[in-house]
Amino acid sequence: MTRARSTVVTLLIVVFQLVCTSSLLAQSNSALAEFIEEGSVIKDRLWRQVEIKLNLSQQVPYRVYVQSSPNRVLLEFGSVNFQGFSDTKLLSSKRVRNAETSVLPNGWSRLSLELTKPFAVTSAEMKRDANTEKATLSVWLGPVTEEEFKDLVSPYNEEENYTVTAEAETKNGLSHTKRVRVVLDPGHGGEDPGALAGNLKESDLMLRLALEIKEALLRAEIFDVFLTRTDDRFVSLRDRVEFATEHQADLFISLHADAIDKGVAYGTTVYTLSEKASDELSETLAHEHDRASLLVGADLTGAEDTIADILIEMASTETLPRSEALAEGMIEELLFELGSVNAKPLRKAGFSVLKSPDIPSILVEVGFLSTQSDLDNLIDPIWRNKFVNGFRNALVKWVDKDTADAIRRRQ
Ligand SMILES: [Zn+2]
Repeated sequence: MTRARSTVVTLLIVVFQLVCTSSLLAQSNSALAEFIEEGSVIKDRLWRQVEIKLNLSQQVPYRVYVQSSPNRVLLEFGSVNFQGFSDTKLLSSKRVRNAETSVLPNGWSRLSLELTKPFAVTSAEMKRDANTEKATLSVWLGPVTEEEFKDLVSPYNEEENYTVTAEAETKNGLSHTKRVRVVLDPGHGGEDPGALAGNLKESDLMLRLALEIKEALLRAEIFDVFLTRTDDRFVSLRDRVEFATEHQADLFISLHADAIDKGVAYGTTVYTLSEKASDELSETLAHEHDRASLLVGADLTGAEDTIADILIEMASTETLPRSEALAEGMIEELLFELGSVNAKPLRKAGFSVLKSPDIPSILVEVGFLSTQSDLDNLIDPIWRNKFVNGFRNALVKWVDKDTADAIRRRQ
């Protein structure tokens, strides 16, 4: 029932897909797809659905989300030439009032669809034809209540979303000389799917969540966000930590939703590093994670621990309290948004991914795939949206406080 609800009334606001093969990245500045009118359509479908099909001359990064006043679905591309675009030719829907194109300050192109009733994005997918290189973006909208729609709208002023400044101001007026670099680490991937529940994989769920968090963080304007993986591939624990170091991360956050064999566990838990796991559950999970690095026969865990341990010793006096402050703030904000978290939400464990020498790091167990209600939450876009909001708020507040603390430490 819940799954049916989530696919039919999915309220996914944001689909963010980066085209990340190097050849495409290299030409990303000039990457401009042409809109192809032939075969493109916005059409009413059965069960009060709307199908949006856009043909493009090539694949480009895109995102899809909703905005209010008036209620709109925004499709943004990096970028598409909509010259000669005619909404009368494209539109055969009573549920979409009009379609307008514009160019955003950051060079992206936007197609804005004004809705006659509240709708949510139920799916969005771009497919590329390997022979012709042409791409088709297929988006489906499903009806939602006005209340549900409101929940999906980004709280940030959309006009401000694209004002990229070298110096971002945070709410209390503290100025950052650089944007805060956040590395998000969706757990598992490739031959290591993590926990399984039916046909759902922890690796897939965490990647989707990480992409949604990334989008929300970018909208907060003060973050640069990097993902340790953007598709379903294996990344060793060592490579995840190295990725964070190479990207000069200010923060490293690992995302998991593991299953436990024994007992029942509910809700989100946030882990920070400790020399020794604080309880049996932490130990079990820590063990599960360390085992992942053995899967492709590259056991670097031993070496990593030796190096990491020395560095932890050196850095822990400053870094660990900052990680702990983030963990506490994260639980506070998630509790506020979600209404509940794990009964013992702050834990300490010796996960390898947390052993970044001088980067404040936390591991978020979003929920437990072995618990049905947690699984239901993870596939429920409304719940995820609340989670993402809490996550973003926690980071924004942490940056404010951490910046103030840093100034105090220097004085
Ligand atoms: Zn995991």
